[in-house]
Amino acid sequence: MKGKVWLVGAGPGDPSLITVKGLNCIRNADVLIYDRLVCPELIEEASPACCKINVGKQPNYHPIPQDEINQLLIEHAKLGKKVVRLKGGDPYVFGRGGEEAEALYEHSIAFEVVPGITSAIGGLAYAGIPVTHRDCAASFHVVTGHLRAGKDPVDWPQYARLDGTLVILMGMSQIEAICAALIEHGKSADTPAAVVRYAACANQEVIVSDIANLAQEVKQKNLRSPALIVIGQVAAKHSILEFTATNQVIIEQQLTHNNPAVEYSL
Ligand code: SAH
Repeated sequence: MKGKVWLVGAGPGDPSLITVKGLNCIRNADVLIYDRLVCPELIEEASPACCKINVGKQPNYHPIPQDEINQLLIEHAKLGKKVVRLKGGDPYVFGRGGEEAEALYEHSIAFEVVPGITSAIGGLAYAGIPVTHRDCAASFHVVTGHLRAGKDPVDWPQYARLDGTLVILMGMSQIEAICAALIEHGKSADTPAAVVRYAACANQEVIVSDIANLAQEVKQKNLRSPALIVIGQVAAKHSILEFTATNQVIIEQQLTHNNPAVEYSL
């Protein structure tokens, strides 16, 4: 009997942001293959008998190459196992979930996708930044700051012309060049800009500035990946929205609870 694979989004940080369906998948899994950005509380939800494999990818450092991850999914499914591939945020937002789904299709393995809350939206919300706002952002664009080697450079001139919110993932190693390119191609230097590191996690950090100064402030505070770069008027909302949002309370609770996942009530 062939098994099946569930590509599950864990959401960003706070473990209680996973969907009910995603959590049920973890609890029923025979094999759990998870990434670095998944919080440990969710791994603990798997049964003791579940085989847990950390494929812990990091930027510029992929301990298990993608081909091997695909192979792991296929092999365990062929052995008849219920395999959960757990990823941070949403599996199809820069998570290479699309590639994994294609590999499963090519090998005739049954699979389901269980969407998650992407850090690009939910992570910003935890930092008090609404990704759209009727007054100042009628659209948002989620882009990668890091293209595959050999690909054309990111089209910053095009992004600089957009009016809405720009959310840049995997951009921290290039932040100075990104901000400079956006200004060079027409974004006003005083456009509000922010960096949110470990969004929705107990150790969340936020810097709000403008595009002219953001990179310098990030350098001074030594903020690194994983972080979101946000460019647009909504970044300025952080100062009033972060500390009144009840999510903040949840983050504080995480600092004091050892077993937070199931105790939260939103
Ligand atoms: N599938 C994920 C994104 C994977 S790409 C999602 O939907 O959120 C990995 C990049 O996402 C990181 O380099 C970082 O830019 C961003 N990221 C993911 N989770 C994050 C978090 N909790 N805080 C800040 N950035 C995060």
